[in-house]
Amino acid sequence: MGTDMNRYRMHINGESVEARRGAWFPVYDPSTEEIIAEAPDADENDVNRAVQAARAAFDSGAWPQTTAQERGRILLRLAERIRKESAMLAELESRNSGKPIVEAEYDMADVATCFEYYGGLATKVAGYVNPVPDNALSLSLKEPVGVAGQIIPWNYPLLMAAWKLAPALAAGCTCVLKPAEQAPLTVLEMARWFADVGLPPGVVNIVTGFGETAGAPLARHPEVNKIAFTGSAAVGKLILKSAVDTIKRVTLELGGKSPNIFFADADFEAAIDGALFGVFINQGEVCSAGSRILVERSIYSRFVEGMAEKAKRIKLGAPLVRETKMGPLVSKEQYERVRAFQELGKREAKLAAGGGRPAGMGKGYYVEPTIFCNVDNSARIAREEIFGPVATVIPFNDEAEAVRIANDTPYGLAAAVWSRDIFKAFRVVKALRAGIVWVNHMQPTYVEAPWGGYKQSGFGRELGPWGIEEYLETKQVHINLNEQPIGWY
Ligand code: NDP
Repeated sequence: MGTDMNRYRMHINGESVEARRGAWFPVYDPSTEEIIAEAPDADENDVNRAVQAARAAFDSGAWPQTTAQERGRILLRLAERIRKESAMLAELESRNSGKPIVEAEYDMADVATCFEYYGGLATKVAGYVNPVPDNALSLSLKEPVGVAGQIIPWNYPLLMAAWKLAPALAAGCTCVLKPAEQAPLTVLEMARWFADVGLPPGVVNIVTGFGETAGAPLARHPEVNKIAFTGSAAVGKLILKSAVDTIKRVTLELGGKSPNIFFADADFEAAIDGALFGVFINQGEVCSAGSRILVERSIYSRFVEGMAEKAKRIKLGAPLVRETKMGPLVSKEQYERVRAFQELGKREAKLAAGGGRPAGMGKGYYVEPTIFCNVDNSARIAREEIFGPVATVIPFNDEAEAVRIANDTPYGLAAAVWSRDIFKAFRVVKALRAGIVWVNHMQPTYVEAPWGGYKQSGFGRELGPWGIEEYLETKQVHINLNEQPIGWY
C-alpha cells in the first residue's frame, strides 16, 4: 500500500486528479481483507470542482449541443473499449467486490450492452406536435435536464455506473458520479478511456469518497439539476430531503424485501433452483433479491428440505476461482451486519441451513448461505433488507394469503410467482405491488425493460426508453401562424 502504483486518481474536467486536501482511503479485497489500492478521499471542495466542470461542459453547449449522432457514436466507442478490456475489468471487479469472476464477466457484458443500447437510443429522442385548436404550431421538445449527480452502491459497481451514465449522456446531460467507497476501482479504470473515445472534458466527472463527505455535498449542490441514487432506503430519504431546497429532480432505487412466491403446482425442481438463485446470486447483495420465499403449505416441508439440501452444496470460495458460486461479502461492515441478522434469525425463526461463517475459510468476509423456515412475516428478518445470503421461507395457505403476505412490506421493488396455472399466475402478477414481476423465473434483467420500484423502493425508472426520459425535460414551444395582431385591446 502507499506506492504510486496502486493509487487510483479521480476524474475531474478531463484530468486525473487527487483530492485537494491530499487524503486517500484504502480499497480492499474482501476475500483476503487486504488493501489492494487507494482512492482519493474527496470532500466538498472536490465535489464543487467536479460540479463546476460538469456545469461548464453543459452551459457552454460542449455536450448538449453535440449532435445526438455524435453522442451516440461516443457511447458506442466506449462500449467497444469496455468489451475489449472486459477480462481485465471483470477480474478487477471480482477482486474488489468479492463477486464470483463468472458473474463479473456477465456484468461486464451487460455494461457494454448498456452503453450500446443508449448509444443507439441517443438518436431516437423525438419531440411531439401538440394538436392545439389554433392556427399555431405547438411543439413539445425534449431537452437534457442539465447536470446530473449520480450516487451508486457497491454491489454491481460498474454496471450501476453504466445504468446511470449511459442514459444521462445519451440525453445530453453532463455528470458527476460518486461510486461507493467500497468498490470504486472499475469506474476509475473506465474513466481513463473517456478522452480516447471522444468525451469532452467535464462531461463525466468521477469523484471518489465517503457518503457524508462527498455524496451529501453532491446531493445538495445548487448547481446540480438532478440526483439519481441507488442504495439504502435510509440514505435515499436523506437525498430526497436535501433535494428539497433546490427542487432537484430525483430518482431513487432503494432495494427491497422481494417476495418469491411458489404455488404447489410449480415445477418442483425448477422452483427449488429459482428460490436459491433468486436470493443467493451475488452473495444475496442484490436490491431485487428474493429474500422472502413464500411457499404453499402443501409443499412447504419438502421445499425447505430441498432448498437446504442444495444450499449446503453451493460452492463458496475465492472470487477468482471459476468454480466459485459465492464469494465473500463486500466489506467487514457488511459481513458484521449480515452475521448479526443470522444470529437474530436464530431467535426469530427456525434455522434450516447455514447460519454462520463457513468452516475452514481462513480470511475473508464469507458467510454461509442461510435459510430460515417457519418465519413470520412480521419478524425483522422478513422485514428488513439484509443484503446478504439470508433467505426467509414463509408458508401460505392460498392465493389470497400469498398476495397479502407478499404485499405486506414497506418495499415494492420486485417479486416473482411460480405456477403452471397461467391464469392464477397472472392474477397474482396484477395483485402484486411491485415494479418488476417475474413469472417462473427470478432476476433476469434487460437493458430494454424498465427497472424501478413501488412504495419505499423509490421512484423513477431506469433502463429502456424510461431510463432516458428521467434525464429529459419537456419544453412547450408555441409558434403563432396568424399574421394579424392578437386584437384583444
Ligand atoms: P448506502 O445507501 O449508504 O450507500 C449507497 C451510496 O450512497 C454510496 O455511494 C454511499 O457512499 C452513498 N452515501 C452514503 N451516505 C450518503 C449521504 N448521506 N449522502 C449522499 N450519499 C451517501 O448503502 P451501504 O453501502 O451503507 O449499505 C447499507 C445497506 O444499504 C445494505 O446492507 C443494503 O441493505 C442497502 N443497500 C441497498 C442497495 C440497493 O441496491 N438498493 C445497494 C447498497 C446497499 P459510501 O461509498 O461512502 O458508502
